[in-house]
Amino acid sequence: MKTSVVTGASRGIGAAIAERLAADGYAVAVNYNSSEKAAEELCRRINLSGGVAMPFQCDVSKRSEVENMFAAVRRELGTVAVLVNNAGIAEQCLFTDISEHMWDRLFDVNVKGAFNCSQAAVREMISAKSGNIVNISSMWGQVGASCEVHYSSAKAALIGFTKALAKELGPSGIRVNCIAPGLISTEMNSHLDEDTINALVDETPLSRVGTAEDIANAVSFLVSEKASFITGDVLSVNGGMVI
Ligand code: NAP
Repeated sequence: MKTSVVTGASRGIGAAIAERLAADGYAVAVNYNSSEKAAEELCRRINLSGGVAMPFQCDVSKRSEVENMFAAVRRELGTVAVLVNNAGIAEQCLFTDISEHMWDRLFDVNVKGAFNCSQAAVREMISAKSGNIVNISSMWGQVGASCEVHYSSAKAALIGFTKALAKELGPSGIRVNCIAPGLISTEMNSHLDEDTINALVDETPLSRVGTAEDIANAVSFLVSEKASFITGDVLSVNGGMVI
């Protein structure tokens, strides 16, 4: 059984990715930062349905916590074959109101978190001459969102990170891809009122909000043999909102 690590898997998109990879036959390390109960409940659900999952706490922005987590994952579940850098935070505010603290925090979690986890995972992947990394960016990293300059910048950085790493690791048999989700129904968007959501749906050619499962399906495809000639790609899963 191959092992996968999904960061930020206690809820939302990460939880759906964990469930999908478990259904695909991977042992899943369910990373969370603070939602311990939710991560444990998800693992319980996966294990009850015949899969293998274990919760692992760590703040992905903290280097030593990430190194300890990967050591624990190796001990408990074995060598990591798939890494999904999904953990992320967002904030909406005017550019002039972005604090230095929030700028740093968004980059620390969304970008440095992917750097920390990828570096912790790739040495073994290089030795194995195989592996898959999927980074969860955003359509706002592709086109920019007003009142989310720090979030858009961090998500754009993940796209550059994906492309550069794909070039460097391709010769080692490792594929690195990125997914740019559109509007997905999760807690991250719970602050949006009905009128705002309806307006966004009106701008979406496929006329609906996306689900966490839409993103999980894309991850499942990208890490599968069906995608064996795809690397460095940014897969848009956004209902056509950004084309
Ligand atoms: P969410 O519901 O807010 O969940 C975020 C997840 O990230 C939680 O599991 C949270 O864990 C984890 N997390 C946050 N900070 C962390 C840290 N420092 N270390 C480890 N884990 C951390 O968000 P979501 O909507 O599922 O989003 C998942 C990813 O998709 C994010 O990268 C987001 O930017 C991206 N995305 C989302 C949308 C959307 O419309 N929802 C669109 C485009 C892109 P705890 O609960 O333990 O804190």
